[in-house]
Amino acid sequence: MKQRGWTVITAAVVAAIACAAALHAQQPAADLILTNGKIITVDEKFTIAQAVAVKGDRIVAVGTSQQIGQMAGPGTRRIDLRGKAVVPGLIDNHMHLLRAGTTWAREVRLDGVESRRQALDLFAARARAIAPGEWVYTIGGWSVDQFADSRKQFTREELDRIVPNNPVAIQESYYRTYLNSRGLDALGIGDKTAEPQGFPKGSILRDAAGRPTGVVEGGMGAVRSIAAKMPRVPDDQIEASTLAMIKDMNRAGLTTFGVAGCDPNLVAMYRKWEARSQLNVRIFCIDGVAAGTPEQVDRALPRIDEMKLFQGDDYIDNVLYGESVYGPLHDPMFDSVSDPRPDQLAQWRRLAMAIAKNGLPLHVHAELTNTIDAFLDQIEAVNEVYPIKNLRWMLAHFNQSNASQLERMKKLGMYAAVHPWNVINGGIMHEIFGDDAYDQPPLATIQSSGIMWGFGTDGSAANQYMPFITLGWAVTGKMTSGLKVMRQTIGREDALIAHTRRNAFFVFQENNLGAIQPGRLADLLVLDRDYLTVPADQIKDIKPVLTMVGGRIVYDATAVAATK
Ligand SMILES: [Zn+2]
Repeated sequence: MKQRGWTVITAAVVAAIACAAALHAQQPAADLILTNGKIITVDEKFTIAQAVAVKGDRIVAVGTSQQIGQMAGPGTRRIDLRGKAVVPGLIDNHMHLLRAGTTWAREVRLDGVESRRQALDLFAARARAIAPGEWVYTIGGWSVDQFADSRKQFTREELDRIVPNNPVAIQESYYRTYLNSRGLDALGIGDKTAEPQGFPKGSILRDAAGRPTGVVEGGMGAVRSIAAKMPRVPDDQIEASTLAMIKDMNRAGLTTFGVAGCDPNLVAMYRKWEARSQLNVRIFCIDGVAAGTPEQVDRALPRIDEMKLFQGDDYIDNVLYGESVYGPLHDPMFDSVSDPRPDQLAQWRRLAMAIAKNGLPLHVHAELTNTIDAFLDQIEAVNEVYPIKNLRWMLAHFNQSNASQLERMKKLGMYAAVHPWNVINGGIMHEIFGDDAYDQPPLATIQSSGIMWGFGTDGSAANQYMPFITLGWAVTGKMTSGLKVMRQTIGREDALIAHTRRNAFFVFQENNLGAIQPGRLADLLVLDRDYLTVPADQIKDIKPVLTMVGGRIVYDATAVAATK
């Protein structure tokens, strides 16, 4: 107990005083009180308080330590924060969470790893932990530019040396994959062979003699055809893999997600945990009807008429249509320009019209400038027929947006779900887009426009998942390596609001989540340092020491330390 950073005083110690105080207050005692802290409530006034009281799964009071202390009864659990900062549980408005869980435990995740040396050690450690011949692999969520010690690409020879007996495929975001010799063999890529199916011509890089270097480029096509060959976690291990992922999310400070893509089989597993009061994240699904041809649009329209959202609860619900409307207009990552065709836009509009007619909220992938303009043209036309003002329509990703688009969106009553790919892809995006990448996304322009916007990552392949890395990037414009990649930085209060209160609204939980105030669910984090005063370059390093979801402690760093 003595080593703990903060103290849990058991009931008996304070029973007599607390009992009297509770009687005095003439209200049922709190189940838990947290006192002597710096509570960054993120309410509308950005109030800073000292203490919080929780009863059941909700916050019942926020105030001074003295006020909250009076709410303790004989059975109240007390946490002395010893000055530590507390923030609301962080919300990612767009993460491919359910999909990520199916490979999480088999991957070597590099999210937040700042050392190339450490990454190599992790590959070697994984190889030692599995049988010879089994894949060592990673499906995105990182890039070499995040490493502070060296941003050199991995080489075939180096990976052979580190992992001699297993095939290796390390996917860098959706941009490149690094293979060792066994990996090349396993994929049928030889010195003389043509590209196997699924690999665009020239995507397999070769030296002057025609020998593959181990680096595969060629956009999402090549990268995805390798990822598709990686072993899935066996069905009987998906639960354990997903639970390991959820633990990592709680450790990083995440408690709620807008989830892109909700496979019903996987949702059923989350429902089972919810029924046992063991679900430690809240998931709000963004799901729609796939349509990539005019015939598929014909078939999708009646299904949109039948769609029912908001049938769930405050742990699991379907709340948004998305993230794709019409397949051919879904911009691939790292494309630099788009040229949406009128016939494709006509199909997009048919679908959008049905979505608006049925009063459904929309969260749509919109990345390239021309695509965003074309979507706004369609939405303005839809809005003439079925006003969308109160439907919470939002454009998602939004990296190549501009001020005139923001004005159009504000007129329509739309919002922006910002997923800054620069956080890990800054180096790659500067290679592709040059100087323009410094404004992707135009974060300060978005903030000063007054539009309602929130942060997501689009993890776990296109981006890393850790919210304090995103917040640090928003305030400094730097990747974890220190590489400056974005010039439109914003203040730390605005960044935090975008990762909490705004996102609560985006997943229709504004009465439940996003701020520490009476009546809301008790989802909060105790931090190892103060987000508001720590040097900006250290925001990325902030770690929760305790994470709470619905009044339950789901992650407790000091308890982990105590049991070691
Ligand atoms: Zn997307």
